Amino acid sequence: MEATPPHIAILPSPGMGHLIPLVEFAKRLHHHHHFSTTLIIPTDGPLSAAQNTFLSALPSAIDYILLPPVSFDDLPADVKIETRISLSITRSLPSLHDAVKSLHESKNLSAFVVDLFGTDGFEVAFQHKIPPYVFFCSTAMALSLFLYLPKLDETVSCEYRDVTEKLRIPGCIPIHGKDLLDPVQDRKNDAYKWVLHHTNKYKLAEGILVNSFKELEPSAIEALQVKENGKPIVYPIGPLVLMGSSKSEVDGSCVCLKWLDEQPSASVLYVSFGSGGTLSHDQIIELALGLEMSEQRFLWVVRCPNSTTSNATFFNIQNSDDPLAYLPQGFLERTRGRGLVVPLWAPQAKILAHESLSAFLTHCGWNSILESIVNGVPMIAWPLYAEQRMNAVMLHEDVKVALRPQVGENGLVGRVEIANVVKCLMEGEEGKSIRSRMRDLKDAAAKVLGENGSSTKLLAELATKWKSNNTSI
Ligand code: UDP
Repeated sequence: MEATPPHIAILPSPGMGHLIPLVEFAKRLHHHHHFSTTLIIPTDGPLSAAQNTFLSALPSAIDYILLPPVSFDDLPADVKIETRISLSITRSLPSLHDAVKSLHESKNLSAFVVDLFGTDGFEVAFQHKIPPYVFFCSTAMALSLFLYLPKLDETVSCEYRDVTEKLRIPGCIPIHGKDLLDPVQDRKNDAYKWVLHHTNKYKLAEGILVNSFKELEPSAIEALQVKENGKPIVYPIGPLVLMGSSKSEVDGSCVCLKWLDEQPSASVLYVSFGSGGTLSHDQIIELALGLEMSEQRFLWVVRCPNSTTSNATFFNIQNSDDPLAYLPQGFLERTRGRGLVVPLWAPQAKILAHESLSAFLTHCGWNSILESIVNGVPMIAWPLYAEQRMNAVMLHEDVKVALRPQVGENGLVGRVEIANVVKCLMEGEEGKSIRSRMRDLKDAAAKVLGENGSSTKLLAELATKWKSNNTSI
């Protein structure tokens, strides 16, 4: 019987940091192996402007279906993001079932790929006998923790942050419990129970795709690839990142790039806290004064302060307030020419690829880190939420491609510390060795994605496997 063209379904969570790598994955599957993809997206209301622009610019081989919005009216206001994402899937199961049934009837799905908190979607895949996979859009280190968490949960009785010795996640640098990802910091919270629930279900996947590569996380990936009974095969297929052609750009993009065109080569520090990171007002002031004291060129994407603490606003970055109003008095005038401040959003992929760029002060979101690596840009690690503290520990202590400013006793990173770290990375000797390691990583990233590279080969292996599932129904 003649096979239909191969098609897969992906169940992403709607955050940009998840959509972007999943779409890059679908694009690569199409370019190299002629697969087409349907994204089946659970919702809890209208999408943001950035999400809409991004989805409307998808290539024709990638289609998407928005599931009917589920209600979260019954949830407390402080419910954690991991709980929301998980519930958005369990509450969408009837419509997910209908969408998968009709897609499978028309396209004969070769695989069903879920995002890291999407394992409840497996039940739909099992009903239709479609092989289920996880796409883990974070580090191999975080994946190693996820697979180890059920054991950790059994053996540690207190909060992980209260364990005095560092924890030993298989294949990873020892890490303090307080540096583990946010949802495992409070074991009584539902978010922790959800994470544990998903990690217990990872073993039901036929395989786990991780957006990383061996040269970046050698021992974590080696540990993940040790074969054990009941452990799914792990495919490191990264780095899959948005390259310098983002369509999801809003006002300000041209201003940034034009301004960068006018700066000397390798001279600018880019400062950005991802798609949802915000700082407290006091921290914005310290950062501004630190950048000014450093006397370096900078391009800073500024958001309004969230509250008194540094935090994440996630899907809610549109704010009618003017972020520039929170900068110290006279700052814009004093740094004019040397610094550019843009509100809310900038075309990061293009900025990181620009030849005027020298370094990146980042909140350590995994996409931002990978984008920095593929462009060979050294980093200053300033983690805020989710798994970013783990990423910062890995970058600073293990891979050694980032500096990490110290937080003062008042909970803020002070202006002098900021100025020193910026100068050290942009002008100092330590900066030079970090830069050289970053160049090696950039070359390694290009190699793994090249014709005979390990990520390309593993993707081909998967594609062959999936195509062999693709005999007509
Ligand atoms: N991004 C962007 N412009 C911005 C902020 C973010 O293009 O002003 C993109 C960035 O390039 C990355 C994604 O949004 O691809 C953010 O993902 P990441 O994992 O770094 O952090 P998250 O936003 O999920 O915390």
